[in-house]
Amino acid sequence: MHLSISTKVTVACAAVLLPSLLLLASWLHIGAEVGSAAGHIGHLTELLRGQDRQDAAQRALRLSIGEATRLAERHGTVPEAQWHALSAELRAFRTLSNVTATDPDRALPAELRAALAQTRSATMAFVPIGQELIDTARRDPDGIKPAMPHFLDALKRLESERTKTRDVLGRAIGDAADDAIALNHRGTFRALLSAGAVILTLLIMALWLHLRVIEPITAIAGILRAFRADRPVGQSVPCLDRRDEVGDLARGVSEYNKAMEAQRSAQRRVDFLAHHDALTGLPNRLLFENRLAHELIRARRTGEKVTLFAIDLDEFKSINDRCGHAGGDDALRRAAKLLSGCVRASDLVARIGGDEFAIIQVAPAQPAAAEALLRRIARATEATLSADVPIQMSIGVAISSPDQGGDDLHNLADMALYRAKSDGRNTARFFDTGLLEEVSLRNRLGRDLERAIDANQLYLAYQPIATPEGRITGFEALLRWTHTDLGNIRPDIFIPIAEATGQIGRIGHWVADTAMAAAAQWPATIKLALNLSPLQFRDAELAGSLLDLATKHGIATDRLELEVTESATLLDQHRHAVQTTLRRLQAAGAILAMDDFGTGHSSLSNLKEFTFDKLKIDRSFVATMLTDDASAVIVKATIGLGKSLGMSIVAEGVETAEQLAQLREWGCDQLQGYHIGRPMRVVDHLLAPAELAI
Ligand code: C2E
Ligand code: MG
Ligand code: MG
Repeated sequence: MHLSISTKVTVACAAVLLPSLLLLASWLHIGAEVGSAAGHIGHLTELLRGQDRQDAAQRALRLSIGEATRLAERHGTVPEAQWHALSAELRAFRTLSNVTATDPDRALPAELRAALAQTRSATMAFVPIGQELIDTARRDPDGIKPAMPHFLDALKRLESERTKTRDVLGRAIGDAADDAIALNHRGTFRALLSAGAVILTLLIMALWLHLRVIEPITAIAGILRAFRADRPVGQSVPCLDRRDEVGDLARGVSEYNKAMEAQRSAQRRVDFLAHHDALTGLPNRLLFENRLAHELIRARRTGEKVTLFAIDLDEFKSINDRCGHAGGDDALRRAAKLLSGCVRASDLVARIGGDEFAIIQVAPAQPAAAEALLRRIARATEATLSADVPIQMSIGVAISSPDQGGDDLHNLADMALYRAKSDGRNTARFFDTGLLEEVSLRNRLGRDLERAIDANQLYLAYQPIATPEGRITGFEALLRWTHTDLGNIRPDIFIPIAEATGQIGRIGHWVADTAMAAAAQWPATIKLALNLSPLQFRDAELAGSLLDLATKHGIATDRLELEVTESATLLDQHRHAVQTTLRRLQAAGAILAMDDFGTGHSSLSNLKEFTFDKLKIDRSFVATMLTDDASAVIVKATIGLGKSLGMSIVAEGVETAEQLAQLREWGCDQLQGYHIGRPMRVVDHLLAPAELAI
C-alpha cells in the first residue's frame, strides 16, 4: 500500500495525539482518584473529630453526673434546675452520638463500621442508664450507691468502645493515606509512561521525516543547484521508485535532468561537429588553428617549442580512383587512427582538409621529440605495407621560433612537406632556412621560366642511345636552361617548377618542336627520345599535337620514342586519359618507353596494362650493380623480364666499360650514359654510320 506523505504525517500526528490524550486522561483520572482519596481521608478525619467531640461531651457529662450525684449523696438536695440541665445535657449527648454515629457510607471499612455500630449501641445503652441514675439520684440520693456500678459499667463499656473506634479510625486514616500515596505513585508512573510514549513517537517521527523527507529533498536540491550552475549531475536522482510526493518530485527532477542532458549532449554534439571532422573524428582546421595560436602564445611564456607537422597522404588520388570513395574514406580513417596512435596525449592530430593532416607537438626538447614522433609514424606506416592499401605519407616539420604566428609556421611546414614530396614521398623533411631560400629561388625560377623560351635561355642537349656494340640508335632530348644570372639550372630542379606553375605543357611543346626540328636533320634510322611529364597527359590533345609536330617536321612517327615515368601511368583520375593518349601514339607507330624503371611504384600490372615497348633501367641500379648484389639481381631480372614480355631494355647511366661489359653479357639491348656519350648540343659528328668506339 502506498501512502502519501501527508497521509503518513496525519497518521503520525494521530499517533502522537493518542498517547497525549492517554496522558491527559491518566492525569485526570489520577486527579479524580487522588480527590476521592482525599475526600475519604477527610471523611475519616471528620469521623475522628466527631468521636473527639463525643468524647469531650461524654467526659463533660460524666463530670456533671459525678458532681450532681456527689452533691446529692452529701446534702440530699440538688437544685431542680441542675437536674434539668443534666437531663438536657444527657439528651444533647444522645443527639450528638446519634448524629455522628449514624453514617451510611458504605465505603467505610467493615471493621470501622462495626466499631462505630458498637460505639453507637454502647451509647444507646449508656444514655437510659445515665437517665436512670439521674432520676434515682433526684428521687432518692441513697439509691445512688447501688445504681452506681451499673452506670459505671455502661460508661466503661462506652469508653472502651469509643477507644476501639478511635484506634480503628486511626488505622483507617493511615491505610487511606497509604492508598493515596500508592495511587500517586501509580499515577506518576502512568504519566511518565505516556510521556515516554509521546517522546518516542515524536523521535520516530523526526527520524522518519529526516530520512524519508528531508534527506531526499536535500539531495534533490543539490541536483537542482547543479542544474543551475550548469554542472553535470554526478549522481542519479534518488527515490524515483517512491509513490509519494517525494517520488513525484524526484521523477519531475529526473525528467528535467534527462531533458537537460539531452540538450547538453546535443550542444556537445554541435560543438564537436563544429570543431571536428565528421569522417575521422579528428579536430578540424578550426580547432587546429585555435590550438596552434594558443600553443604559440603559451610557448612564449614557457619557453617550450611548438612543432608543426604538415602531413599529406601519398597517392591518395590514386587510392580514391582505385578503391572508390568508400576506399578513400577508409584510407583517411586508417591514416587518422595511425597518426592518433603515434602521438602523445598532449599532442593534437587534426584533419585540415582532403588528405591533409597536421600534428601540433609541444615539447621542450626539440628536434629530439619531433624525430621520435617521426620514427613512430615511420614504423606505423611501414606496418601497413602488407595491407591492400598501404598508408604512406609525406611529412613536413617546422619548429616554432619566438614570436612566430600560426600561419607562418604552417607555411614553413608546408614548404618542408613540398620538399618531402619532391624528395620521393613517404618521407619527412624538416624545414630549415635553406628551404626558405630554396622556396624563394623556386618562386623566382617559376617567374623567370615564363620568359626563358623567348629569351633563348632554353636549349636541348641530345644524349646518344646505342647498342652494346656501339651503334647509335637514337638520341634522347634533354632540356637545358642557362639562366642569365644563375647560370645552368638542372632539369631536376626546373622541370618540377614548370609542372607546378602550369608551364610544362607549353615547354614540352617547345621541346618536341625543337627536338623534331633537329631530328629532321638526322638520318631516318636515328630515333628521337622525348621525355613527357605526367602533367602533359592532362592535355587531351597531347597525342594530336605531337603527331602534328612530327608531320610538320616530316618525321616518321616510328622514329619517336616517348619516355614516361611510371607515375604518369598512375595519374589517378587521368589514368584512362593517359591510356588513350599512349594508345593513340603507339597506334601511330611511336615507341613507348618506361623511364626510370625500378623507382617509384613499379608494378608489373602497369607494364601490362599500358603495353610499353621499352624499359629504361634507372641509372641508380646501373651505378651500383657491380658492387651491390641486390642491384645486380634487379638489373638482370629486368633484362630477363623485358625479354619475356617482348620489350627492349635500355640501361641508363652507363659510366664505365665494366658496366657496359657486364650489361652486354646479361643481354641488355641498349645503353645510355656518359660512357656512351654525354648530352650534347650538337651531335652531327656522331651521325656518321660508323659505330662508336666504346
Ligand atoms: P631522364 O629522362 O632519366 O634522363 C636521363 C638523365 O640522366 C639526364 O639528366 C642525363 O644527363 C643523366 N645521365 C645520362 N647519362 C648519365 C650517366 O652516365 N651518369 C649520370 N650520373 N647521369 C647520366 P638530366 O638531363 O639532368 O635530366 C634529368 C631528368 O630531367 C631526366 O631524366 C628527365 O626526367 C627530366 N628531363 C630532362 N629533359 C626533359 C624534358 O625535355 N621534358 C621532360 N618532361 N623531362 C625532362
Ligand atoms: Mg628520360
Ligand atoms: Mg631516366
